[in-house]
Amino acid sequence: MAEVVSLSGIGVCAGIAAGPLLRIADVPALPPPAAAADPEAEVARATAALAEVVADLERRAGRAGDETVAEVLRAEALMAGDEALLDGVREHVEDGADAVHAVDRAFGAYREVFEAAGGYLAERVADLDDLRNRAVAVLLGLPMPGVPQPGHPYVLAAKDLAPADTADLDPALVLALVTEAGGPTSHTAILARALGLPAVVACPGVLDVAEGTLVLVDGASGRVDAGIDEAAAEAARQGASEVVAAAAAFTGPGRTSDGYEVKLLANVGSVKNVPAADEVNAEGIGLFRTELLFLDRGQEPGHDEQVAAYRDVFAAMAGRRVVIRTLDAGADKPLPFLNQEGEPNPALGIRGLRIARQRPQVLATQLAAIAEARSQTGADVWVMAPMVSTLAEATTFAAAVRDAGLPKAGVMIEVPAAALRAADLLQVVDFLSIGTNDLSQYAFAADRMCGALADLLDPWQPALLQLIGICGAAGRATGKPVGVCGEAASDPGLAPILVGLGVTSLSMSPRAIPPVRAALAGRTADDCRRLAELAVAAPDATEARKLVA
Ligand code: PEP
Ligand code: MG
Repeated sequence: MAEVVSLSGIGVCAGIAAGPLLRIADVPALPPPAAAADPEAEVARATAALAEVVADLERRAGRAGDETVAEVLRAEALMAGDEALLDGVREHVEDGADAVHAVDRAFGAYREVFEAAGGYLAERVADLDDLRNRAVAVLLGLPMPGVPQPGHPYVLAAKDLAPADTADLDPALVLALVTEAGGPTSHTAILARALGLPAVVACPGVLDVAEGTLVLVDGASGRVDAGIDEAAAEAARQGASEVVAAAAAFTGPGRTSDGYEVKLLANVGSVKNVPAADEVNAEGIGLFRTELLFLDRGQEPGHDEQVAAYRDVFAAMAGRRVVIRTLDAGADKPLPFLNQEGEPNPALGIRGLRIARQRPQVLATQLAAIAEARSQTGADVWVMAPMVSTLAEATTFAAAVRDAGLPKAGVMIEVPAAALRAADLLQVVDFLSIGTNDLSQYAFAADRMCGALADLLDPWQPALLQLIGICGAAGRATGKPVGVCGEAASDPGLAPILVGLGVTSLSMSPRAIPPVRAALAGRTADDCRRLAELAVAAPDATEARKLVA
């Protein structure tokens, strides 16, 4: 029997799947340059090819069952139809390039700009490459590269998925996603969560696995076993379907088997995500990422526009808790209107609440808009700030929230200094919410976008759990809520441990809620505490998982 090869990456959507691995079709190779005899004709060919790519993306957006997917596709169509891109193509044709090479070079120039910008824009490079490949394929008369359609279930492997690929994914056929590149915020991660597909990103070696090899994907641990036999695949499928069936059997509020309540909340970016939260009976929203509404803005959004956006979410969640986070701009989420360019190290720079040091009016405007939206809807609104490091920051923020007439002020715990001082912070705020994505990044000095450091960003790292435990203990001592709203909350294996550490709510992408609800229902509160002790005492993340299993 062939040997099983274990690969590992970052698990970004929990769940187990097994099936044959297939790759995205190869990108078209460029032919040697041809002399462009008729520049006008070359420009016309390129224009028609880009128009066809735009039309194709719009068709896919129309077909996409998921609004997040459709929106991403429309954004790609806008990029492909950009006038400046066409101007670039024209210039390259004037310099003597044929249509194919002019398109290739025009996209190449954009690519360089995006890469140099870093952060969010650098992650959009995969979108540009996808558009370029599609336009080149049209010009060469080849089928557009994309997702295989073998007519049977399979695990899809790719370097990094582009939005256009994901729109073609039929969740009934695609069992799981594995990409060699990408990070926790890549499109693959975002869309896998929207579709509820087990997914592993930043998994080196996956593209070397031969087509058709049976693989097992664990979207929680990030493990991919290649070369398993049919019996092992069948056992994994059986186990996975039992887990899904068991999860579906639990529908009520989150609680342990002995009735200890743990609120299960949804992470949203806008009102569009609310139906998904309702589908899984989320008890409220634990993280409303307001910056996602304004990522493309050259101008600061005004009071009325903000009121409308917040009111939509508050009204849709009528009667339930909505934890809204003030703008978390900077680093991986730059907001153009804040002009934050030029920082040597943006993740350690003026981001999150720190922006209020320089632009206090931005925070004041947002708090006033939140207060107005709340008064129009009567929602149970809690407000929190991202990237808080000190008691002084928490004190100032809580005062600003109360001055705006808002009743509940909290802070996110994303910086180790804040975790260490959780008890002090709880003297001045009403709740804490632990952002494990950033807390990992800062505790381990490991860029959260860096796939090569996946092991350091593993939420099972005992040092991370220890920091969470400090916050949980402070919450227990003061009787105030301490939630987790980073990706760690969506790992069903980790959920009981977080609860054992004193966490009182877990907030995650909606599709992750049923397995987490089931995982909690299978443990007593005492079990959770015992497992938490084991995990924190473990020497490393791998050992922590083993001990708990
Ligand atoms: C986090 O850092 O864990 C978090 C929830 O915030 P974001 O991922 O939006 O930075
Ligand atoms: Mg964060």
